[in-house]
Amino acid sequence: MELIIATNNAGKVREYKDIFQPFGYEVFSQKEKGIYIDVEETGTTFEENAYLKAKSVYDLTHTCVISDDSGLEVTALNNEPGIYSARYKGLETEAERRQAILDGLKDKEDRSARFICCICFMDETGEAHLFKGIWHGVIADRPEGSNGFGYDPIFISEDADGKTTASLPISFKETYSHRAKAVGMLMEYLNNNRKENL
Ligand code: IMP
Repeated sequence: MELIIATNNAGKVREYKDIFQPFGYEVFSQKEKGIYIDVEETGTTFEENAYLKAKSVYDLTHTCVISDDSGLEVTALNNEPGIYSARYKGLETEAERRQAILDGLKDKEDRSARFICCICFMDETGEAHLFKGIWHGVIADRPEGSNGFGYDPIFISEDADGKTTASLPISFKETYSHRAKAVGMLMEYLNNNRKENL
């Protein structure tokens, strides 16, 4: 059975290919299928945006599709940047977006935050299956470390012993992150429900 990864991000394509191929799927990126759409993320939640991305590719192909949406929620900033994490306050660079969060928290006591990852698996009938991973932590006083991307230099997860995600080896994220959690749920679903494709 064919499956298309609804993203233009090469890293995500590689990751999802590794997950689905053992289940007997022929996995393709959007690009490999000649689909050149950049879906507008008009939803108000991670779930809606993941659904929108999968649905727009499903409507063109009527095959299984996988998509995801992720971001950071900071409690004292009314859960911003949330679904706007990649374009927070219209700032150009990741460093500027990180600084905007540190500035916003200057006089705040509560530095709690969480990363969210929502994966949508749309099956061959068009039914959506959603998997949401949440990674709790706090925002550091200053950026530290150079591993990972985005908000990793200012995020200290609950299981990190006070170190920012960017100061820890990548393998740490692969085990504990919001994305790892959502992927774990997806794998469990596939193991329990999609074994017939093997
Ligand atoms: P997406 O590609 O639409 O899911 O956008 C995700 C955005 O959220 C990224 O551009 C980052 O700013 C942020 N983000 C999501 N996951 C992570 C992570 O694991 N580390 C750091 N930043 C992340």
